[in-house]
Amino acid sequence: MKKITIAIDGFSSTGKSTVAKQLAKALGYVYVDSGAMYRAVTLYAMQNGIISNDHFDVEKLIADLDRLKINFKYNNAIGFAEMYLNGVNVEHDIRTLEVSQWVSQVAEISEVRRMLVFQQQQMGKEKGVVMDGRDIGTVVFPEAELKFFMTASAETRAKRRFKELLERNENVSYEEVLKNVESRDLIDSTREDSPLKKAKDAIEIDNSSLSLEAQFEKLYAFAREVIEKK
Ligand code: C5P
Repeated sequence: MKKITIAIDGFSSTGKSTVAKQLAKALGYVYVDSGAMYRAVTLYAMQNGIISNDHFDVEKLIADLDRLKINFKYNNAIGFAEMYLNGVNVEHDIRTLEVSQWVSQVAEISEVRRMLVFQQQQMGKEKGVVMDGRDIGTVVFPEAELKFFMTASAETRAKRRFKELLERNENVSYEEVLKNVESRDLIDSTREDSPLKKAKDAIEIDNSSLSLEAQFEKLYAFAREVIEKK
């Protein structure tokens, strides 16, 4: 059976990665979390004094881009790939609220996007990939055979994200998380380069009141249908 490319875009914390992982597993496809790559660039900037307090030296980050080695390595024990930055596993460090507070500013920079989009396209060259992000169906894989656009209310999303951060023992308040989700959505959808928007041919899924199982079944049924027609 021929392999396809599945693009999943949407606002922050719409559960894209959860369903993308489930789909990849069920189909035997590779899952790529493109947001992790923007987060890794942000972490690099924070670790190297490019971002500190309220200061962000955009030019220095652009100048440093060719020093960054960003790649995924599959971890058998957990069943998915983890993010590495210059040889170091940063899977945990890229998920903090501090990184979330800067990542959308980093993702606005065209030079950063160009570099990461190129890598993402290389990873999806052979198809058989489920990639989630903000511009996957519009910029990275405009020819993807199947595209989803996930939505849910900002409160539902902030609650999910808050729960995740508490589980990781992060010291954050619900209000901070809600503010972060809303501000990232605004930057992501209004930026000049590759703003978050629904691709014309994407299927919109509002999962505010869908269980994880129901959501997976819904997307999986669409995937089977497209794959069987191939
Ligand atoms: O998916 P996640 O919330 O981890 O993404 C973090 C940030 O990375 C987003 O808020 C967005 O600014 C940026 N991003 C992007 N394009 C993508 C994936 C993520 O601009 N394809």
